[in-house]
Amino acid sequence: MRNAIKLLTAAVPGLAIAGLAGAMLLAPAAPADAQSMGDLLGAGKKVVQAATVSDAEIVAYFGQMSDEMDQKNPLAPAKSPHAVRLAKLTQGLKSYDGLTLDIQAYLVDEVNAFAMGDGTVRVYSGLMDRFTDDEVRCVIGHEIGHVKLEHGQKRLKRALQQDAALSVAGTASGGVRRIADSRLGGLIQNVMYAQHSQAAETQSDDYALTFMAANGYDRMACATAMDKLAAMGGGGGIALLQTHPNPASRAKRMRKQIG
Ligand SMILES: [Zn+2]
Repeated sequence: MRNAIKLLTAAVPGLAIAGLAGAMLLAPAAPADAQSMGDLLGAGKKVVQAATVSDAEIVAYFGQMSDEMDQKNPLAPAKSPHAVRLAKLTQGLKSYDGLTLDIQAYLVDEVNAFAMGDGTVRVYSGLMDRFTDDEVRCVIGHEIGHVKLEHGQKRLKRALQQDAALSVAGTASGGVRRIADSRLGGLIQNVMYAQHSQAAETQSDDYALTFMAANGYDRMACATAMDKLAAMGGGGGIALLQTHPNPASRAKRMRKQIG
């Protein structure tokens, strides 16, 4: 997310930023007089198109970003301990609450997880190694909340509206435009790695608590997961802390909700 570039260094090793920079260097510089009224009007037209971007396009764009992330991060092979454990923890979640979900683990020693608007959810092995089963489930519930409540989808639409070049770069493929590969890294930063609003995070926390209760899991695991994150905070570099609000406050609020 996904996203203002807080995470560039710590959380996303190897993300395709180098490719983005390289592409920008290769692009011919536009002559100053090329910024004609026609160009400006053209850019304005793209903004309108982006504003009416279809749900199918949004899903396709998220699919592109998911593929990019999966190429940059090693997915846990099906028989690996992390994949086996995660499959057990997410049994019955291939479709949930009207969503089609693809939940898999990355073998990356970071305390991180993310969801994409196409139903892709990735949990990093570093988080799995530090969290109990129910704590991992709560993180997954929180991420499903972001998908269900369309937080990333709204962010992507905003990004497309604010950066007309993103849609200019798109080329038709199977009837659906694609984001140019050279722009993907930047879009992922914008959509995945900026903080959602406090309100969105609170909604997802509430969704997670409901998810836990609905599936018979221990809701208190949400609070203890936050306690762990708070304890890790001192050293910095914890990806989930850079994209999420203060975990101690979240733990306190969750305990109040649980009662
Ligand atoms: Zn969140």
